[in-house]
Amino acid sequence: MTTDLIQKTSQSQVELRGISKRYNIYDRPIDRLKEILWNGKKSFHREYLALDNVSYSFAPHTTALLGPNGSGKSTLLQIMAGVLKPTAGQVACRGRVTAILELGAGFQPEYTGRENALLYGLIVGIPEDEMKERMDEIRDFAELGDFFDQPIKTYSSGMVVRLAFGCATNVEPEILLVDEALAVGDEYFNQKCLERIYDLQAKAKTIILVTHNMDTASRYCQSAVLMNGGQIVADGSLDEIIPMYQEVVRSASAHEHKKFLSVL
Ligand code: ADP
Repeated sequence: MTTDLIQKTSQSQVELRGISKRYNIYDRPIDRLKEILWNGKKSFHREYLALDNVSYSFAPHTTALLGPNGSGKSTLLQIMAGVLKPTAGQVACRGRVTAILELGAGFQPEYTGRENALLYGLIVGIPEDEMKERMDEIRDFAELGDFFDQPIKTYSSGMVVRLAFGCATNVEPEILLVDEALAVGDEYFNQKCLERIYDLQAKAKTIILVTHNMDTASRYCQSAVLMNGGQIVADGSLDEIIPMYQEVVRSASAHEHKKFLSVL
């Protein structure tokens, strides 16, 4: 029993080793063109470090990833999901990773909900036959009814989120990454998604949830990580991290307000 638990635990881990992400910032679109024309011999950009040497090992439970806007949460999640390459460092994910990063990212608008769900399964390594057996469950969870067989370009944004959430949580992920997508759905569906997250927790999954809602964080997460300026600056219990988060957000908005006043 204990061994089984330990195996599950070590499978569900997400480990970040020295992750950095640098973006090239071009002040004007023409600068990008100039750089191409100079064939890289002259530089017309400045560099911006969105993630600065982040190392962290996520525990096999639900962690709230907190931080003010621009602190690097989405960038980090995208790197963990493998949709963005870090400039330096490595991510070790042990287990099947599924992610809800942004509205319908990765869905094909011309394909139906069913076809997209099938495709999703294939991408995360579930055989077609097995995925077909899961279809009714996905359709029912997403409450799409007949829309399930319509192209998703006809869906409302809420329907796309529901489909994304249905797919990502139905394929038995060991690691689930959720970025704010919940906020797009209605209150009833948000609740349903959170309950699904709660169910997955019972199976010792590693879930990383980016949220600005401290009630959600307190209710569904067992620990929190605080990001600021592209770094993880603190981690601990929700009780410890929430006041720190609130302080960081307060000083970030005071800084923005000052900057705004200075240009008036
Ligand atoms: P958060 O999710 O915490 O709001 P992000 O990860 O979205 O933060 O962004 C971190 C920083 O990286 C921000 O300052 C943002 O402007 C910058 N950034 C994100 N994506 C790009 C990009 N494609 N090009 C340039 N800068 C980017």
